[in-house]
Amino acid sequence: LFNFCAGPAALPEAVLQQAQQELLDWQGKGLSVMEMSHRSDEFVSVAETAEQDLRDLLAIPDNYKVLFLQGGASQQFAQIPLNLLPDGGMADYIDTGIWSAKAIEEASRFGNVNVAASAKGYDYFAIPGQNDWQLSAEAAYVHYTPNETIGGLEFSWIPDTGDTPLIADMSSTILSRPLDVSRYGMIYAGAQKNIGPSGLVVVIIREDLLGRARATCPTMLDYTVAARNASMYNTPPTFAWYLSGLIFQWLKQQGGLDAMQRINDAKQQTLYSAIDTSELYSNPISPVDRSWMNIPFRLADDRLDKPFLAGAEERGLLNLKGHRSVGGMRASIYNAVPQAAVDALVAYMAEFEQQHG
Ligand code: PLP
Repeated sequence: LFNFCAGPAALPEAVLQQAQQELLDWQGKGLSVMEMSHRSDEFVSVAETAEQDLRDLLAIPDNYKVLFLQGGASQQFAQIPLNLLPDGGMADYIDTGIWSAKAIEEASRFGNVNVAASAKGYDYFAIPGQNDWQLSAEAAYVHYTPNETIGGLEFSWIPDTGDTPLIADMSSTILSRPLDVSRYGMIYAGAQKNIGPSGLVVVIIREDLLGRARATCPTMLDYTVAARNASMYNTPPTFAWYLSGLIFQWLKQQGGLDAMQRINDAKQQTLYSAIDTSELYSNPISPVDRSWMNIPFRLADDRLDKPFLAGAEERGLLNLKGHRSVGGMRASIYNAVPQAAVDALVAYMAEFEQQHG
């Protein structure tokens, strides 16, 4: 079976097997990780190892804190302005689709949001170049969504915002390839795609951005409190943290993010080229702005959607239905989805086209 779900997404089988082996008895301690105090030496070592492995994978500079928090990426939409947008202040947001729109809507509850650029003018099929952005001089930060999970739009470049901190929602692209963390003020990602199970959000924040939370910011949402307490101000999502640590080790065993870049590049080329050379399937996104992780495609006649999905399921190609807001199909091909899955998908697509094209 191959799982193309956008999230919670497929996890590497080797990781699930290791977690299964350790489920009842972690490293001979007679306990599950789920049953350990988060303050025990055992769990602290699990937590610290996970953080160090993530630091190694992304080459995170020392002046950044890595936080393992709850509330998902959606909570960050409010947490970011509460921490980084002063009362009455202004922040720049780039609108490239459904997830950036959600971030904009939530931030607007806390301050002035300047939508400095929008892909709306391109029907969300292309990303406006930075020359067309209207950044404001007084912005506390610039927020963007490098990969729009639903629309299938991805930045192939990092915006240049000068001294204004750049904040990125990397939920569906983090760890898919190497990243220059030093270009960012803050990066955040819900775990349930390329990091691990849901219930965890990873925040990577430059230290000089700490200590700026509003007086009204709830303690639990203050990055500084989380950083001071090594993400253990309260009980963290211990099992999700542990499992994410196993994923980080797995990624290192694959050869790190350079290797993942090669693997993911080959996967996306296989799938887009199958779409582009067919008469039946299409993807509307401007080729330079196409997502590597989430590939939406439509069939020329949407009456074929149901038989396409039924045939896919029969062949063990699961969760290809597009997001309910856009319809069509979507193949999410995160790190844990191997080339073999993409090969099986394009073989089925060709077979289906022969029968129905
Ligand atoms: N941002 C992006 C880019 C996403 O893809 C998602 C979820 O799919 C979210 C935010 C919301 O994440 P969560 O469900 O963890 O709040």
